[in-house]
Amino acid sequence: MKRQRKQKIVEINEERFTSFINSMDRGNEPYLDELERDALSNDVPIIRKDTQTLLKFLLKMQKPKNILEVGCAIGFSALLMSEYSEPDCKITTIEKFEKRIPIAKDNFNKFDKGNKITLLEGDATEILKELDPGYDFIFMDAAKGQYINFLPDCTRILNKGGLLISDNVLQDGDVIESRFAVTRRNRTIHARMREYLYELKHNDNYETVILTVGDGMTLSYKL
Ligand code: SAH
Ligand code: MG
Repeated sequence: MKRQRKQKIVEINEERFTSFINSMDRGNEPYLDELERDALSNDVPIIRKDTQTLLKFLLKMQKPKNILEVGCAIGFSALLMSEYSEPDCKITTIEKFEKRIPIAKDNFNKFDKGNKITLLEGDATEILKELDPGYDFIFMDAAKGQYINFLPDCTRILNKGGLLISDNVLQDGDVIESRFAVTRRNRTIHARMREYLYELKHNDNYETVILTVGDGMTLSYKL
């Protein structure tokens, strides 16, 4: 029954386009491919191929020195950012799920060659409050219903000229549907995600673009 939710309503990305575009990609380092396969076979929700490509592009363009990620899971996207950022870039990533933390640590020990990554264990709701300003790239990829609550702290600690990137903002297509077309358990997320998108587009701190890449992404440039 759960599966049916997916075939519904809309596909934000026609699969043939995504496959075609992905087929043009140079791909990643083999250890990242292996981690990606592991994650997918264990139902760990990591960033999609087209999202990876966009992140790599933004890293080359922006050359951040101090990255924050909210939502580490097993460390796939943190390692991707470590691999494709400048050698002197530091990455801080937050994860609260106890089952995933040791796996992420193990992956960082094995693959984070430049020791660029620091894992902060715990709930981002508390951790974000404690962080000092000075980030130039924030990747938001945690519980979708919480983005709106994380935004004030992200805005406080993000440098002017920095980028706030948020993943999964189109909620598998649900976000454009009426709240009544969305399953009851997704309604709160639905309302909060709409609020988040509206806020990003109307907040004077940011210039924001909403993209249909992956499961929907926003790029917000801090003015
Ligand atoms: N960025 C990862 C995937 C993250 S999946 C990648 O692409 O490789 C989202 C993760 O956010 C989950 O592991 C979940 O446990 C974590 N998460 C959700 N809400 C959180 C919170 N409030 N604080 C810390 N971690 C959170
Ligand atoms: Mg995601």
